Amino acid sequence: MKSGASVLLGEPKQTDFDLNFLCLGIPVRIHPGFWAIAALLSLPIGREPLPVLGFASAIFLSILIHELGHALAFRKCGIRSHIVLYHFGGLAAPDSISNYVGFGKDYSSRSKIFVTAMGPGVQLLSAILLVILLRGLGKTDGFVTRFIGVPAHWTADPMGVLNEIEQVEGSLLPFRAIPEFATVYQARLRLADTNQDGLITQQELSDYESRIDASEPLAVPAWESLELLPEVLEPIRRYVPRDMVEHFTGAAQEALLRADDGEGKLILWSSVRLRHQASVEIENEFLRVFVFGFVQVGLFWAVMNLIPVYPLDGGQITRELFVLSGTPNAVIKSLKVSIVCGVISGLIGLQMQMMFIAIMFLMLAYSSYQTLQRMVGRYF
Ligand SMILES: [Zn+2]
Repeated sequence: MKSGASVLLGEPKQTDFDLNFLCLGIPVRIHPGFWAIAALLSLPIGREPLPVLGFASAIFLSILIHELGHALAFRKCGIRSHIVLYHFGGLAAPDSISNYVGFGKDYSSRSKIFVTAMGPGVQLLSAILLVILLRGLGKTDGFVTRFIGVPAHWTADPMGVLNEIEQVEGSLLPFRAIPEFATVYQARLRLADTNQDGLITQQELSDYESRIDASEPLAVPAWESLELLPEVLEPIRRYVPRDMVEHFTGAAQEALLRADDGEGKLILWSSVRLRHQASVEIENEFLRVFVFGFVQVGLFWAVMNLIPVYPLDGGQITRELFVLSGTPNAVIKSLKVSIVCGVISGLIGLQMQMMFIAIMFLMLAYSSYQTLQRMVGRYF
């Protein structure tokens, strides 16, 4: 069962730089092209060798687990297979075609679906298990909430504590330091600054406006239209009033206290965020990137391979489902699904500026189209 675009190029030739080993009794060959693509995909992570190595290790382990899923399922069906990792990902192939075909009678559509689904299945499962393990340790994976945008409470991500605080009314107030405003307003703003801390909040400003006569020529404009000095680049800062700390319990209160410097009435929200993030992320840099990469690659690769485009796992499962359902022209129907889904996935890839993915899906759609033409003649 091939993953990625392996079928475009088939199994790569043996080289002197191949790495061969046995994993759970299954022969694994790593073509040097695999390291090249793993390095290429890991480079955006940074310039430091440690995080790049962490991400590349995650790609390696996650794809190996995917192919092991196929290979172990083959073994369960009595078929010997081997794994190759190369520049288009990985593949688990039966040792010989006669071996594969010889099982024709026993190797039913159900077995094929089982073997095909086991790859993305165990890969997905391994990513989910890692997320569960991390939650048990009170840690974030850094991907599911921050990059996919899954609500933190769905996966019990400890990063969700921040949303919990944000959602309580009055817990976050915007402020700016008076010297950040255009000079013409500063004297007035000092009058509005009732607690004389040099910081002006929206509340202080509206209190001030209600005290003075609005027709007064020196009245300060509303918060939104106050001009700032051109050199001020920071967005409005926010703080949690110290007396709000008591409104929270547990992890939320701990997060606030961690950032409380014990001075003034403000707990700076940006500092709460940074310190909380640091406390729920894995400290070791290699492990942190590895965990992030393992979850990202596991989810992304497994889901991508389940798209019903031939010859990806999803395309093969779709074909066998058509066969099982007894529909006439099952293979032709599955090829049509493959063309439509390939083009749609390619266009989505283009729109998301993921060129590698876009080109791969469009090529797969075209190759399904060619296969279809060969099967039914040039009928469209
Ligand atoms: Zn697969």
